[in-house]
Formats: sequence, C-alpha cells, structure tokens
Amino acid sequence: METANLNLTDADAKTIADRAGIVGAKFEISEMTPSLIGAAERYVARYTGSFEFIVDLKNRQLSPGQAKGALNCLLAAVRRDAKPIIAPAAGEDFASIPAFLCAAATNLKWPKFHFKVDEREYVLRLKGAKAKRPWSIDIVSRDKPFLDSYSGMPAAEWFGRILADGTMEPSKRLTAALLDALRLIAADPKNAAIKYGRLTSSCSFCGRLLETKESVSVGYGPICADKYNLPWGEISEFAVA
Ligand SMILES: [Zn+2]
Repeated sequence: METANLNLTDADAKTIADRAGIVGAKFEISEMTPSLIGAAERYVARYTGSFEFIVDLKNRQLSPGQAKGALNCLLAAVRRDAKPIIAPAAGEDFASIPAFLCAAATNLKWPKFHFKVDEREYVLRLKGAKAKRPWSIDIVSRDKPFLDSYSGMPAAEWFGRILADGTMEPSKRLTAALLDALRLIAADPKNAAIKYGRLTSSCSFCGRLLETKESVSVGYGPICADKYNLPWGEISEFAVA
C-alpha cells in the first residue's frame, strides 16, 4: 500500500483516501498544511520509482507547490494500487449498458441511468467522444459525500467504470450488491429502468419524480421515453395491475 509507512495523521490519511476515490480530484497548493507537506516529504524520501519529477525532489525541503505535485503523484499511485476486492468474473460483458446509453447520445448531451440498491441511489453516466476513455460509463453514487478540492464542488463516490467494449474496471469501493445490480441492468437495461421507475416513482433517466399514473406504470416519463427510444403510448404491456 502506497500510504503505508508515511506516518500519516488520521485526518491526512482520510483526506488522501477520500481524494483518491474521486475521479480526477487533485490537491491544490492552498491546501498544503505542514503535516501534508511532511507526508509529501516522506513519500518522496521513500519513493523507489523512476519518475523524474519525484526523483528530483529527493533530499529537499518541499515548497507547498512541490508538496502538492508529490501528493498528486501519490494519489495516482494510490488509485493504481487500489485493487478491487469485488470484481466481475474475467470476460464478463456489460456492453449492453454503454450501448443502451449511447443510443440516447444523439438526443442528449449526457445520457444517464439512475438505479437504487439497498436504499442508496446510483447513477451511470455516459462520457462523451472526447473523454479519455470515449463512450465509457462512470458508476457513481447519486449523493455527493465528498468535496472535490479541484472544483470546490461536492463530488460523488466512484465505484468504477464500464468501457465501451463492455469491460468493467471496478474501483475498490464496488460492493457485491452493486455488482449484482449492474449485472441485472446489463441483462436488460430497459426492464431495469422500468423496475426502478416503479420502485421509486422517479424516472430512471432524468431522476425526476414521475407525476402521472401512466409514467409510474411505464417506469419513466414521456420526454425520456422519446430521448431514450423507448415505447410510450403502447404502455399496456407494462401496465401495473
Ligand atoms: Zn425522465
């Protein structure tokens, strides 16, 4: 573990772990406390890799800017090091999920899919063509328990991603219950959306409350039905008795 042997305070250990759990989150110079700078110096001192930026910082007192840079390397290392405990089987295919959301991308800038597991809500967010991993899907919490230091905005918890080819890259936060829910969605995205809509009376796609009996019985609203290419008006096959 990258953070072992750094003699981190509990608060610093938590800050680093939380930050590592947010996609793209970084440290800023303004956040560099003496104890974080100390942690950065210990990280640099124990560093055995060949990344020049870090090697060049060895045997120095770090400025806040250098400490920030070193801690951002540490964050990247913690993320690489974070071996998921729960993971799909080798070759398990989730491709129906990106395919389903990509089909809505001609109508919507950011297609999404909401679902609920054990009283917590989650969102699948499709990334665009220009993302580092084009047309991949981030698996995140709907609630935002973290503060992203980079943007200053509340940030969701990240559980991994599904690549466009259907491969899942779980984060170490993935749970067995969440993985099972993702398997059910992959088996039939449309029916999973309907079930969620009926369960929560909110639309699986936009997350808004469903306001009419028709919407609740179908499981999504008419606008999203249009955007996600789903049936609407021929709802008898879904109607709740
Ligand atoms: Zn909707």
